[in-house]
Amino acid sequence: MNFDKSKKLYEESVNFLPGGVDSPIRAFKPYPFFVEKAKGSKLFDVDGNEYIDYCLGYGPIIFGHANETIIKESIEQIELGTAYGVPSEKEIILAKEVINRVPCAEMVRFCNSGTEATMSAIRLARGVTKRNKIIKFEGAYHGAHDAVLVKSGSGMAGKPDSPGVPEDATKNTILVPFNDKEAMTKIINENKNEIACVIIEPIMGNIGCVPPRDDYLKFLREITESNNILLIFDEVITGFRLSKGGAQEYYNIVPDLVTFGKILGGGFPIGAIAGKKEYIEQFAPSGSIYQAGTFSGNPMSINGGIAAFKVLNDKFYKDLHDKGEYLRNGMSNILDDLKLDFQINGAESMTQVYFTEHEVYDYETAKLSDSEGFLKYFHKLLENGVFIAPSQFECCFLSGEHSKEDIDKTLEAMEIAFKEL
Ligand SMILES: *Cc1c(COP(=O)(O)O)cnc(C)c1O
Repeated sequence: MNFDKSKKLYEESVNFLPGGVDSPIRAFKPYPFFVEKAKGSKLFDVDGNEYIDYCLGYGPIIFGHANETIIKESIEQIELGTAYGVPSEKEIILAKEVINRVPCAEMVRFCNSGTEATMSAIRLARGVTKRNKIIKFEGAYHGAHDAVLVKSGSGMAGKPDSPGVPEDATKNTILVPFNDKEAMTKIINENKNEIACVIIEPIMGNIGCVPPRDDYLKFLREITESNNILLIFDEVITGFRLSKGGAQEYYNIVPDLVTFGKILGGGFPIGAIAGKKEYIEQFAPSGSIYQAGTFSGNPMSINGGIAAFKVLNDKFYKDLHDKGEYLRNGMSNILDDLKLDFQINGAESMTQVYFTEHEVYDYETAKLSDSEGFLKYFHKLLENGVFIAPSQFECCFLSGEHSKEDIDKTLEAMEIAFKEL
């Protein structure tokens, strides 16, 4: 494979963009390929290489790249204007769609990114409960705002994870391990009447893919409810991916608030906070908790979401389910044949293989995997026309456009990659 043009663009871009990219994970070594276009299940780079794409923009592109329905409706919308600064009817239509699909959603506030959504949901929880402390899980990602950029590790709770985040901004953030009932119970008991919310990715998708164990979410619902703590499901990944109504429908657990991003915009930037009306109504202007945005509810993103929901019907999720099973079964057969004792985690269209023989159920166990080995695997896959996110701590996604042939080709590439490790 030839990467000459990508290399040249990368060498140029580092002069003008920090690290040559606009978001850190994109900068893999020695340099990322530069994309020219994307269609269906595939990315095409500037050197003429094509890749079956399992990164899918880190989650949003569940309907496949350049989806025909979304293209058509977006072109119609662009002619009607792209930012209004006054309300438009389509905002009501998309809000109703979300409310129809998502069990906890009675009212919606749209914003522009997953980061904005979790930042605002946490503010809402603090405003509603008049408490400051929040609980998040070790290794969970809720975007790039101060309160959630907290260092992981025992004894590190409340310390900033990176320079520029003041300790004042993180001191009220308490970390607990995922899937650990005892740790959660202890923290809640030690902080009686002080905790505003627990925020959770119902399936952890930013340390690979870690589903909740057995009745963990049910436990969490009960303990938060009995302590008047708001439960926030951060469904920026799982929303409209795990099922039509997201993880809360899939696991049948109804949180107080939910945050969305990624898929909801139909490929355009978006975020949303939804939940019980009595809470969401407390956002300004009906309430006093401040939340605002110039591009919030902008017609391109709202219209993109409406178009996406036309594609995301029951049959779509049934097909996606089958594809996920087919991929994981294939991977599992390859690992068995090669006598590699690695872990395959997944649910529906989310999958990750961990380079460890240990079961992976939280951040500590995820860290046991050989992430250097994983990077070799990533590069082997790339050489064989398969693009996955370049980290053990990301998740592989399927879209409605991934064909059986795509997945078979992918499994062949995986076999080569695992063999050559
Ligand atoms: C991607 C992500 C976010 C942040 O969303 P952005 O749109 O990138 O700001 C928040 N939470 C989760 C679970 C995510 O995966």
